[in-house]
Amino acid sequence: MDLGLKDRVVIVTGGSSGIGLAVVHALLAEGANVVSCARNLDRLDQATSPLPSHRLMITECDVLDPDRTADMVDETVARFGSLDGLVNNAGTGRPGSALGLTGEDWDRELQMKINSVLNLVRPARPHLAESNGARVVNITAPSARDPLVNMAAIAAARAAVSNLTRSLSLELAPDQIAVNAVAVGLIDTHRQHRRHVASGSELAYEEWLRREVAHRGIPMGRAGTADEVAHAITFLLSPRSTYVTGATLAVTGGTAA
Ligand code: NDP
Repeated sequence: MDLGLKDRVVIVTGGSSGIGLAVVHALLAEGANVVSCARNLDRLDQATSPLPSHRLMITECDVLDPDRTADMVDETVARFGSLDGLVNNAGTGRPGSALGLTGEDWDRELQMKINSVLNLVRPARPHLAESNGARVVNITAPSARDPLVNMAAIAAARAAVSNLTRSLSLELAPDQIAVNAVAVGLIDTHRQHRRHVASGSELAYEEWLRREVAHRGIPMGRAGTADEVAHAITFLLSPRSTYVTGATLAVTGGTAA
């Protein structure tokens, strides 16, 4: 199905792996122009080098640096002439218990989830307002509602992002800018490989992931793929989704979000 994304201009943060990279692929396949960033430019370059470069711009940017995100927005408009969408995907999580994590850990986690969105939406807003039906998609997770053990700060920060998504949807609705979230469940990406290593488990990754699925009671009985998340995100970015704002779309294999 043609989603109507041809020539739309979208910034995707965290495009060097996992969900972000899958979104970059999906948008380019739809004929969109894409700007993507990560902190490690070499890794981003390697991951995207097989992709068509005339419609893709990559850049080094830490989404926690508001000056750099503002520059990235300017660079996007200078290169492609407009800005129609944002995918606030970049991120990492700091596991730990509520009382075990330090104040610094908590600050860092909340900043990561909240400022990564605000730092981009703020400079992008005037350009998005000029677009014919702009879209913002944020990433959240089912833990925003039902925290998982040892993920206290991640869950609280996810809840904040879900709430911020609603606030932004209300604020930006008069400019016809839709702001939605995708709640992602257990998705088989580098992030899970890092969790596997950090767990110190002697199980092979596939077996560890199977047990993680069983432990979480995921109704579909499997982890999701980055492509499955990317399809949901591209739909929300597209002109096929015109009257959806302030919503959270669960891509969780049945886990409530
Ligand atoms: P990956 O670890 O595979 O990719 C994360 C991407 O974000 C990388 O490109 C990384 O590049 C980039 N990134 C991280 N921090 C920053 C930063 N400060 N500024 C700019 N870029 C950054 O993760 P996933 O694809 O699995 O996850 C994508 C999103 O989905 C994240 O927000 C994650 O928290 C969320 N999520 C994922 C789940 C899963 O099961 N996979 C579950 C719940 C939520 P670099 O390190 O070079 O900056």
